[in-house]
Amino acid sequence: MKQGICTTIAFCACGLLGATASSVLAQEHAAHVHGEAHLDMALEGTALSLQLESPLDNLLGFERAPGNPAEEDKAKRMSATLRAADRLFALTPAAGCALEKVTLESSALTAELLGEAGNATEREHEHEHGAPHEHDDEDEAGHADLDASWQFHCARPEALRAVEIRLFHSFPGLHTLRVRAATPKGQRGATLTPENRTLTW
Ligand SMILES: [Zn+2]
Repeated sequence: MKQGICTTIAFCACGLLGATASSVLAQEHAAHVHGEAHLDMALEGTALSLQLESPLDNLLGFERAPGNPAEEDKAKRMSATLRAADRLFALTPAAGCALEKVTLESSALTAELLGEAGNATEREHEHEHGAPHEHDDEDEAGHADLDASWQFHCARPEALRAVEIRLFHSFPGLHTLRVRAATPKGQRGATLTPENRTLTW
């Protein structure tokens, strides 16, 4: 419950900030470059979280609401692929990590297309306060991002030594992944590609 309130406040604050604050946020947020995406990984205790911020184009091939049933199907397949996290991230088996939660967000896609429809209360609240800013993540040229977050619980986090990122295989439009990782061993950055897709620590 507490977490839900924080999420909502963060969302509202984001929508209400003025132009100056927005440009600061834009600098903090990843630049929108097609073919590139950003992944933040944090291992804290038994909790492993991965957060992806990607141009929608990398994952879907377009960056707007689907215009026909075929595009709707494509968006639903993308969401299903992103929810099957076991196929996107290969974690050291001995760590015993199990997926607990996946959240998908995009200003261009409805909750239904993202498979978030079950989360009705939160979505309604967002709509109430967020409606005038619905396209915050979409810039004037019509670009849009997809934000995904995955939460794992790892029974033996000390055994977790590597993550192979298989997003490249599922999404050929993704060429470069800029990673920021925080583990008990410290923080580090890495640039991963289809040929060099494993993060170790
Ligand atoms: Zn774009």
